[in-house]
Amino acid sequence: MKSIRDLYKVGKGPSSSHTMGPERAARIFKQENPDAERYEVTLYGSLALTGVGHGTDRVLGEVLAPTPTEIIFSQKDPGDLRHPNTLDFAAYKGEEKTASMRVESIGGGDIVIEGRESAEPDDVYPENSFAEIAQYCRWRYISLREYVELNEGPEIWDFLQTIWRTMRAEVEEGLEATGILPGGLNVQRKARYLYERQHAQEIPQVRELQLVCAYAFAAAEQNAANGTIVTAPTCGSCGVVPAVLMYLQGKYHYSDLRMAHALGVAGIIGNLIRRNASISGAECGCQAEIGSACSMAAAAMCELMEFPIEQIEYAAEIAMEHHLGLTCDPICGLVQIPCIERNAVAAKRAIDSANLAHMLVGTRTISFDMVVRTMYETGISMNRAFRETSEGGLAKLYSRRAGQTLGK
Ligand code: SF4
Repeated sequence: MKSIRDLYKVGKGPSSSHTMGPERAARIFKQENPDAERYEVTLYGSLALTGVGHGTDRVLGEVLAPTPTEIIFSQKDPGDLRHPNTLDFAAYKGEEKTASMRVESIGGGDIVIEGRESAEPDDVYPENSFAEIAQYCRWRYISLREYVELNEGPEIWDFLQTIWRTMRAEVEEGLEATGILPGGLNVQRKARYLYERQHAQEIPQVRELQLVCAYAFAAAEQNAANGTIVTAPTCGSCGVVPAVLMYLQGKYHYSDLRMAHALGVAGIIGNLIRRNASISGAECGCQAEIGSACSMAAAAMCELMEFPIEQIEYAAEIAMEHHLGLTCDPICGLVQIPCIERNAVAAKRAIDSANLAHMLVGTRTISFDMVVRTMYETGISMNRAFRETSEGGLAKLYSRRAGQTLGK
């Protein structure tokens, strides 16, 4: 399994697969073909269908500028492609095509360049499933946090503290911001309203849940507004982990080092899902993004609460299990509805999952590895309309209603 450094990426929203991945690919292609007179980029599958809403064309144009770039939105059936998020780069001098590169944007900002798979970073962890990791930890009498340090080295905590501070900054900036999010849907930012709203009779539990929601909205709104965020594990689901951690740090005053430990444990969960299934909405629906984020957040909370490895596994499993089948149907291809609200609901579900795992440990029948495999099998069986194409679900009904309103 790869380093968890590859999971937490700092970059601009709104989509790790539709903006961060293509941005990385464009930088590589431009660096390799600096003398091109023009570029052509062809987007396929989900990239073609939701690329405008997600800002794929904008980011490609920015990176490849000042060289003229034509973006082609292909209607080619993604069934012919290895991954639904595929893009072809071509460089031209006059009429002659001088270079080409096929790229798959596989989620979380990661890319695979056709024919160069070996360029992937080396594995850092020998174990590739939770069962293997848990067995190793029991054999060595170490915790999951110690397992992370053993494989990544103690420097990982400095890296993760930086990641934590970036997450906290994205939430704080989101709590300050007001107004309408870009994209034309007229979605009002709500984080600050949720944060400031308080009734005299309000019981503390309601206030705490409101805070969790406010933090999740803040990060997800920053992402929708093309702000700087951390993938956890993706841009669209970037609010879940920071919301739970902000709430817990605020309540129990944990040090930033403890937050880094929690991110380390969450990173193991996210990386296992990335390796053994998918964190791409285009490949497996929203269960792969928000479901994975919820699993990570539940595990992070267990680490902060010093729950043992069995409870960490159980919490992560519950969190994923109850997202199985969740579709990806973003309205107008924007990462706003249902995405922003969904981050808040998943953050609250992560807290519930950790609490439930703590109370019911010993009664578990489903393993984390099993639920991850189920998520993948469910995802690849899912109708294409529900895998980040905006051709089904809320996206379809909303555009039909909008069309009726406009008399179309
Ligand atoms: S619905 Fe879920 S998977 Fe789809 S764009 Fe929104 S957050 Fe990402």
